[in-house]
Amino acid sequence: MSQFSFDVSIEEFEAKVIQPSLQVPVVIDFWAPWCEPCKVLKPILEKLAEEYAGRFLLAKVNADENPELSQHFGVRSIPSVKVLYQGQLVDEFNGRHSLNMNTANIVAEEGDIAVSSGSATFQGALVHIAPGSGLIKRCTAEGCNRVLSRQNYCPVHEMQPKFNYDLRIKGWLDDGIRTEEVLVQREVVESLTGMTLEESKELAENNPLGMDEVFLRMREKILGRYLRCEGREIDRRLIVNSCERINFEPTLLAELLNRTGGEVS
Ligand SMILES: [Zn+2]
Repeated sequence: MSQFSFDVSIEEFEAKVIQPSLQVPVVIDFWAPWCEPCKVLKPILEKLAEEYAGRFLLAKVNADENPELSQHFGVRSIPSVKVLYQGQLVDEFNGRHSLNMNTANIVAEEGDIAVSSGSATFQGALVHIAPGSGLIKRCTAEGCNRVLSRQNYCPVHEMQPKFNYDLRIKGWLDDGIRTEEVLVQREVVESLTGMTLEESKELAENNPLGMDEVFLRMREKILGRYLRCEGREIDRRLIVNSCERINFEPTLLAELLNRTGGEVS
């Protein structure tokens, strides 16, 4: 027990975890007395917390005694480690000590840059994904490209028997101070979610939830993630042409990986 590493319950969570996370990353270790792997991981994390001397804080949550917290963070197995920064979940490991690797590296966007003029950058947690994200249908009438309704209805050209599938994400990034609306186009969506247009079409066509299934899976993959997006700002909305997932503390995560035996895949 030290100023850098401490037990925390739901009553103290706001004061000891959420508030400090506005300044430094807080690593939350979900453990339980009956969990053997937890006994291996905990001292490693505690030692790291001392070495880092306040560059991150270690909050230890007894999952048995705090089921609400475990549920809130979607903990399904332990040990489970979550990293909170600026009040948002930015990284996590699962119970087998293998990290959720997509977040441990900066993933550079290599897609086409469709928006060439003007450049604005915004970074923050993706706090909301709006309906109309995921797999969408576009009007094929010449020069239109508008998004069709569920019933294949274009606001200008009315009912469209034909359409083109596309991917996009409409959402909001929050940096703790303000939110920015972002519109993310297909290439960037594919890169961020790891789901291609082809895969998404196939998923929608073979799943009872259809296009909703694509929406739900994409949301699962990227909601709450910390992103740095670049593009052009139009009408107070960022039209994104490149995006990367970022870690607040890449060296910390590399160290955590290294010490806990995780591997970059
Ligand atoms: Zn149209």
